[in-house]
Amino acid sequence: MTLLADGLTDTARFRAYGPRHIDAVAERFGLPAEICSTIKAIARVLPFRVNEYVLNELVDWHNIPDDPIFRMVFPQRGMLSPADEFRLAALGADPGMKVALRQAVKEIRDGLNPHPSGQRQLNVPTVDGVRIPGLQHKYLQTVLYFPAQGQTCHSYCTYCFRWAQFVGDADLRFAAPNPDGLIAYLKRHPHVSDVLVTGGDPMVMSTERLRSHLRPILDVESVSTIRIGTKSVAYWPYRFVTDRDADDVLRLFEEVVAAGRTLAVMAHFSHPRELETAVARQAIARIRSTGAVVYCQGPMIAHVNDDAPTWSELWRRELAVGAVPYYMFVERDTGPHEYFKVPLARAVEIFHAAYRTLPGLARTVRGPVMSATPGKVVVDGVEETPAGRFFQLRMLQARNPALAGRPFRARYSTSASWLTELRIDRSAPPDITAAVAGTGVQGTPALTGQG
Ligand code: SF4
Repeated sequence: MTLLADGLTDTARFRAYGPRHIDAVAERFGLPAEICSTIKAIARVLPFRVNEYVLNELVDWHNIPDDPIFRMVFPQRGMLSPADEFRLAALGADPGMKVALRQAVKEIRDGLNPHPSGQRQLNVPTVDGVRIPGLQHKYLQTVLYFPAQGQTCHSYCTYCFRWAQFVGDADLRFAAPNPDGLIAYLKRHPHVSDVLVTGGDPMVMSTERLRSHLRPILDVESVSTIRIGTKSVAYWPYRFVTDRDADDVLRLFEEVVAAGRTLAVMAHFSHPRELETAVARQAIARIRSTGAVVYCQGPMIAHVNDDAPTWSELWRRELAVGAVPYYMFVERDTGPHEYFKVPLARAVEIFHAAYRTLPGLARTVRGPVMSATPGKVVVDGVEETPAGRFFQLRMLQARNPALAGRPFRARYSTSASWLTELRIDRSAPPDITAAVAGTGVQGTPALTGQG
């Protein structure tokens, strides 16, 4: 690592690499040709982006291709079907097949359920009958806001459930050019107390740009909490430490707190190595010094973190830096779900094995949680009864507020990995059964008159 004139290391200068740089990255880190061609083929369909910090500080290049961070950011064989991968490689190798290649990419993407859980049909709110771009409203108290300039990330996760945001297709993208629509909506819906600013990653924006999106929210009295969903501490902690406007972003966070709002940084961590570096820990300390609270969440992903010691270590490290372990999610039914999915039976075992090792203060974490069409459903455990085995389930959060907090159960399965694959038991209340089956699903709370 070289030290630059201003005292920064070369890793501390943000440089990102995409599909066009795969050969250069492969040569630099000695990636075998076969792995390189897989990455190239899959990166035609799914987003690929990595940066110097991830390459130099997080990936263990002595353990390729099994290294969890490598699997987290570099496309893997198996993420697409062998037939699709072959088709992409063959068409990509023939300069005369550009149109056919574009068509193949579109067909493969369309087959990957780009907008899971009815996000486009059910969650997009309106003002005076006009759909507001870049907003989602699923739960009564919380609106999701997607600022247009925050719809990339410092590096992309291979398993990202928002992958469709990053593939350059405007039809697949949620993005608000400015906060006008959000503010108009919030003023008409004073029951909304929380705005989750999300992406992509809002922390890719300059502080000035971020301020232009956050500042107007502070004028809406009914909003008490601003959440920022980000993986920047894991992928680019310098954002809070040495970036040109790192200090400014801390001042902005302080302003939000001084305005009497709770500022919650919803930090995405998938592996304890992301909290191993001194700069990541420093980033958390600096964020916390502003009065913001850091909540941590991440999905359980096969090949990356599907074992109890990894989660136990991750949650302990989060607690050690003063952050709050919050959610362990189940990988969503989109993109390369088949490759990354973990059966619910195994996920709940791993969760409990890790949970049992934790001190009480880290037992704030909840999981495994499916963020599904009717709401957030947690698998609380497995129940043995004379009638057989069941998953104990509970609606942690629900599109229909009347369902929130209510338990129900489903037949145990060793292979089911998502709510729609479960057989809900007859003992479940009819409204929950209907919501899970999709027959009782309502649109945004505002559209259904709950606003
Ligand atoms: S940081 Fe979040 S939004 Fe960005 S690629 Fe990863 S999972 Fe997706």
